[in-house]
Amino acid sequence: MTRDAIVVGAGVVGVATAEALHRRGLAVTLVDRRSGPGEGASFANGAQLSWSYTDALASPSLLKRLPGVLAATDPAFRVRLRPDPDYIRWCLAFLRNCTAARFAANSLAGLQLALRSRLAMAALLERVPLPFDHAVPGKLLLHEDPHAFLAAAEHAARKADAGMDVRAVSVADAVAIEPALEGIAARLVGAIHAPGDAVGDAHLFCAGLTERLGAQGLETRFGIAVSRIEQGATPALVLADGERLAARHIILCTGPDAPALLRPLRWRVPIVPVRGHSITAAQGPAAPHISITDVSRKLVFCRLGDQIRIAGQADVGFATTKVDQARLRTLLADARDSLPDAADFQGPLQPWAGLRPVTPDSLPIVQRRGPVTVNIGHGALGWTYAMATADQAARLVTGEAPARGH
Ligand SMILES: Cc1cc2nc3c(=O)[nH]c(=O)nc-3n(C[C@H](O)[C@H](O)[C@H](O)COP(=O)(O)OP(=O)(O)OC[C@H]3O[C@@H](n4cnc5c(N)ncnc54)[C@H](O)[C@@H]3O)c2cc1C
Repeated sequence: MTRDAIVVGAGVVGVATAEALHRRGLAVTLVDRRSGPGEGASFANGAQLSWSYTDALASPSLLKRLPGVLAATDPAFRVRLRPDPDYIRWCLAFLRNCTAARFAANSLAGLQLALRSRLAMAALLERVPLPFDHAVPGKLLLHEDPHAFLAAAEHAARKADAGMDVRAVSVADAVAIEPALEGIAARLVGAIHAPGDAVGDAHLFCAGLTERLGAQGLETRFGIAVSRIEQGATPALVLADGERLAARHIILCTGPDAPALLRPLRWRVPIVPVRGHSITAAQGPAAPHISITDVSRKLVFCRLGDQIRIAGQADVGFATTKVDQARLRTLLADARDSLPDAADFQGPLQPWAGLRPVTPDSLPIVQRRGPVTVNIGHGALGWTYAMATADQAARLVTGEAPARGH
């Protein structure tokens, strides 16, 4: 049997892509080596639908932190050096993206994607109401360094010009917006406020949407890895047990695993895994209602239902999803330092580690070559970008014109 399309990878990107293809009338099979949808990087991420904050990872401020990163003393960042030519090329391309001009251009390109994603998410939720702890509490980005705050305020003004509801606010205004910040107000110099930013549990979203699509005919194959792609008259995927799945279109949404599947096709994609950790805990006595990003500690705090998710750290080139206890201790110490009463830090904590699929410019790669389309490399913002790039990928598959504007 030759299917219309097989989507490999059932994270937020793959599930959203399967939905975009299914909605266009294609018969879709969704394959993942995990036992269910959303069990990769989409499982316990920071949960921010970060419509306004699409800042690229490569930035002048990260460059300033490089000595600490290389010396492994920076709590938020680590880098593992590897004698692999593709990895070295990625690192050099990443460094070239750290100029102020590239940072601004990459972040604003991300903003356009986020604006399209926000609309696509709203349209999806009108068609398919899904329970995934979705809320629109807005977001505050907290600043402690006056120079960084000045630069962020200018950057926010550029985003406002591009159509995003975002502005710099005083510490007093930030506390009025989120009273839980009162206890730490003395060390803040200001904040950036984005009232329209949202939160949601990406794993619940993947599970809920896959179930809905399954009831409408989506075929799913979980618990089996794709070993390789066969091109030729009838393109096919070869599974780990040797089974061949033929399809007219193959769409890879495999995050950091994409380079290995594409290399035999002589298709090189610059994606490196960047590990992060999160904890999910009971809310503390001063859990913020609004979603928070602590800019200097590179930490996010989000209420999800009756819990709080705290996520952060960017360990470049670390390819394991095993929780690193030393890094977890650092995350917890930073979180307690940042918002001491946000979570019940004495109670049970659910720790997790995931791999962000990061490109040098922090922008996803959505491309088609013949029967194979890729929708990969969403980095630190895959939950935010998934709906927009799913639409882009589906348009490439069906030959529709690209979406314009937002
Ligand atoms: C700590 C942390 C915090 C984050 N916070 C946020 C946030 O607040 N907001 C935001 O927008 N983004 C956030 N992100 C980023 C976001 O989680 C990712 O960009 C997003 O999950 C990537 O989605 P994906 O579908 O591409 O990858 P994944 O969710 O990893 O899905 C890829 C899937 O492909 C499958 N797969 C791979 N290879 C094969 C194969 N050979 N055969 C079969 N299946 C295969 C995997 O099993 C996996 O399920 C965060 C990430 C981390 C790690």
